[in-house]
Amino acid sequence: MSFRNISKEALAGSITLGLVLVAGYCFGKKKSSRMSISKSHCGGKDDPLLQYVVNNSLREHPALSKLRLRTMEHSWNIMMVACEQSQFMANMAKLIKTKKAIEIGVYTGYNTLNIALTLPDDGVLIACDVSEDYVNIGKPFWKEAGVEEKIDLRIQPALKTLDDLLSDGQAETFDFVFIDADKVNYDNYYEKSLQLLRKGGIIAIDNVLWGGKVLNPSPDDEDTVAIDKLNKKLHRDTRVNLSMLTVGDGLTLAIKL
Ligand code: CA
Repeated sequence: MSFRNISKEALAGSITLGLVLVAGYCFGKKKSSRMSISKSHCGGKDDPLLQYVVNNSLREHPALSKLRLRTMEHSWNIMMVACEQSQFMANMAKLIKTKKAIEIGVYTGYNTLNIALTLPDDGVLIACDVSEDYVNIGKPFWKEAGVEEKIDLRIQPALKTLDDLLSDGQAETFDFVFIDADKVNYDNYYEKSLQLLRKGGIIAIDNVLWGGKVLNPSPDDEDTVAIDKLNKKLHRDTRVNLSMLTVGDGLTLAIKL
């Protein structure tokens, strides 16, 4: 699950960890930015600068806006990807002309819809989740946007879906993967995704700062340990080019060489 237990204190030292290369806006200057994002997932009244960013850069499809507002009514809404982060990833996917994408961890499908909207008519997004409960919230909005045909929803453990795709001979055919599911399996998702990705394709990994907990991982906190371990592994991974961004709760982009 994708919790954002954002703490000002925990984040204070994490701001310097990465490059902020988000076109047209910058989140690195104010520690309170993530606080606002975690509250509203789309700017925040208590952070005028971030609100300005969203007011002047967000371009949501009407169905996306409706799905975001519907998701905000849900008790687990902290799991939704920040709207500006989702738009950034959709832009990245479009930039590399993504035709085949994978999303590991759907929740209500806001980001799913954002990515699907960037795909060409014959594009496909393999959407992985273990339950349809939350996904069902988003489905009507996928349909309203006219992209439900592009979304291939697989309700089973994502590792099984990734193995199925590899067995099906689809290695090195995917352009874009977003990893945002259970953290203890992050490395497994990454390794299988890397096999499925074509050269020049992008793996985006969410929550890589984990509310700042990565600064001092407790040995008995398996989620934080798993994220920190993958972060350090990726830093040395010569199979990819790497950027760790301080947008949202931390976003890593690994570009396959
Ligand atoms: Ca997340």
